Amino acid sequence: MRNRRGWLRWGSMLVGLLLVVSCATVPLTGRRQLNLIPDSQMNALSFQQYDEVLAQSTLSTNAEQTAAVKRVGRRIQHAVEEYFRSQGQSDKLAGYQWEFNLIESDQVNAWCMPGGKVAFYTGILPICRDEAGIAVVMGHEVSHAIARHGSERMSQGLLMQMGGMALSSALKNKPQKTQALYMTAFAVGAQYGAMLPFSRAQESEADHLGLIFMAMAGYDPHEAPKFWERMTAQGGAKPPEFLSTHPSDERRIRDLEALIPEAMKYYRPAGN
Ligand SMILES: [Zn+2]
Repeated sequence: MRNRRGWLRWGSMLVGLLLVVSCATVPLTGRRQLNLIPDSQMNALSFQQYDEVLAQSTLSTNAEQTAAVKRVGRRIQHAVEEYFRSQGQSDKLAGYQWEFNLIESDQVNAWCMPGGKVAFYTGILPICRDEAGIAVVMGHEVSHAIARHGSERMSQGLLMQMGGMALSSALKNKPQKTQALYMTAFAVGAQYGAMLPFSRAQESEADHLGLIFMAMAGYDPHEAPKFWERMTAQGGAKPPEFLSTHPSDERRIRDLEALIPEAMKYYRPAGN
């Protein structure tokens, strides 16, 4: 009969195996990440949640601003699609249903849910100033989705809460558990309209990818550190929502500046 230690050894081997099988690679940065949740499951939750947020929100009636957000969104989307096509990895975007909406709200905020569901709040537009500024935020938020940061965070949560042995059966037989984790990872609702903070590493990665995608879409990456300086200047007694989930400091701005030469290699000014 197998003793307890034997079972433990089997258990940890299984977890190890699961980690190997469930590792994914982030595009462009090549970082390996844990990913236990199938995109199909992630996207289904995301699309449902996005529709609920829209139903509880008022869309902006400012045609010009709405068009600007959608235009920047489409250009970043096409840049992302073109990049994946060039890598022979279009299948990774297969489940995407891109959507870009501008919500009427004083909140200084913007986000992108898994599967390409983007919301901007009118409150962030004065800090964006123009389409290049919108592209900084759009590139960054879309990159969180492309790098599957939400799924990675949920996978870590699953692993911590349930352990390796229960994991595969939990995913198969307890969809409500996945749903609960999703809600923890994405506290998206009309009153919050925000995701919980990503890790510092995920923020840096979204900055990195976002800079490249905005450059590919024809926006000058030099605008990125300028945007974050304006955002930081807004942070007073009551920092904007976006700043509380995206802590900005001199290091972040310095890191962005250091990445600009790499991003400039992808820069194709619009109209050329
Ligand atoms: Zn972020």
